[in-house]
Amino acid sequence: MEQYCESTRKIPVKGEYDIIVCGGGPAGVAAALAAARQGASVMLIERNQCCGGIWTSGAMPWVLDHKNKCGILAEIRELALKRGGEIHVSGSLSCPPEPLKLLLEELLLKGGVRIRYGTSVTGVHLKNNRITHIVTESKSGAEAWAAKRFIDCTGDGDLGALAGCSFEFGGPDGNTQPSSFIGIVCGLDPVAVQDFLAPHGGKPRLKELMESHGIFPTYGMPSLFHFGQGIFGLMSNHGYKVNAIDADNLTAKILEGRKELHTHVAFLRSLGGIWSNIALAGSSDNLGVREGRRLKGMEYVDCRHLGSGGRCDNAVCRATFCVDVHAPDPSKGNVIADQKVQTKPYDIPWGALVSAERENLLMAGRCISGDFIAHSSYRVTGDAVPMGEAAGTGAAISVRENILPSQVKGVPFFSMEK
Ligand SMILES: Cc1cc2nc3c(=O)[nH]c(=O)nc-3n(C[C@H](O)[C@H](O)[C@H](O)COP(=O)(O)OP(=O)(O)OC[C@H]3O[C@@H](n4cnc5c(N)ncnc54)[C@H](O)[C@@H]3O)c2cc1C
Repeated sequence: MEQYCESTRKIPVKGEYDIIVCGGGPAGVAAALAAARQGASVMLIERNQCCGGIWTSGAMPWVLDHKNKCGILAEIRELALKRGGEIHVSGSLSCPPEPLKLLLEELLLKGGVRIRYGTSVTGVHLKNNRITHIVTESKSGAEAWAAKRFIDCTGDGDLGALAGCSFEFGGPDGNTQPSSFIGIVCGLDPVAVQDFLAPHGGKPRLKELMESHGIFPTYGMPSLFHFGQGIFGLMSNHGYKVNAIDADNLTAKILEGRKELHTHVAFLRSLGGIWSNIALAGSSDNLGVREGRRLKGMEYVDCRHLGSGGRCDNAVCRATFCVDVHAPDPSKGNVIADQKVQTKPYDIPWGALVSAERENLLMAGRCISGDFIAHSSYRVTGDAVPMGEAAGTGAAISVRENILPSQVKGVPFFSMEK
């Protein structure tokens, strides 16, 4: 391939912090807030114009595995319920995306976090095996930022990869779970469409309705979620062979996903009756990518740990969600892949959040150290938040005590029962 050689650039160092968190999704918000509450100076860098990741720019504000958690997730739950959120029969927590954006910003600003939106992490500067600066790109151009600790909460492990860390990607055959491009719909009466709402229980009514009219969505379990206040989410497509770190591939999946989503909403509207006012009010700003890089940590969460309900002395939270691999190969089914592992509630160890290769790098959320099957369980947002809270707390302790993150002992446990 022809290559273009960039001349050496002088990049201004715009700030210096104790801790920089890259990515403001569920994990990143909690990491930044927890670190700031420990007294650290913290900057949160987010490529979008809001925090929340999958909850907001991903149009899926639906929190799985939150019930047994305390700490920041419990605070978010309490606030969300006052601002139009709901707890559903299944136990899941939801909140319309817009109130959630404001709620998260208020928490972060009150906690003293500096938020920088519209800014992507694009480079790092290393000294020995330590990150000294990150480089960002935004409307302000290229800027550099120094910190004592960095936390990768980009979901895709962008920061770790830029720092040259090893990672795993996809399953044993290299395939990843499919993406979904989610629509925000309104114009429905939550009571009238009750039987069509996810989770489906015994009867996938929406699927039956669509298939009885000759519509076969690429996601074999099309799902309508009521987030609250008459705001719904429609997840009805799968983008197979998606690659979270290939912009052309992501573009193709967005184009396919949007087209299919519009077709599905138009179809439902054409049915009239309870569907006659359905409208597509918006769609996710970012394609819903279920997995990216899984960075190499000091410890590794594998499927045997899930199956045996593994406990750890250095646990940061207890995950209780099942294995949930959306089938990577549509020729073998287009819903959930057949899984042999039955999870028992298991611990996430501190070491899975600490990079094995860069001594001042931590990670939280879906890019922590674990295998393909384990990731399909711990990736949910009810676990991303306590992981972020642990990473932020531990990073701040390591700064205060002037020790490496790998030497930190006694990071709190952000689940109710140990
Ligand atoms: C379609 C879909 C449906 C899902 N459904 C559910 C569900 O119902 N319930 C549930 O609990 N979980 C669900 N999940 C899983 C869950 O979304 C994720 O695993 C979870 O979001 C992990 O949180 P995170 O903070 O690690 O990542 P994310 O939510 O992905 O947040 C990462 C953040 O980093 C930012 N970022 C990325 N790269 C950069 C960069 N280079 N520079 C700066 N910022 C960057 C992103 O913009 C984003 O805000 C779903 C996932 C998908 C894709």
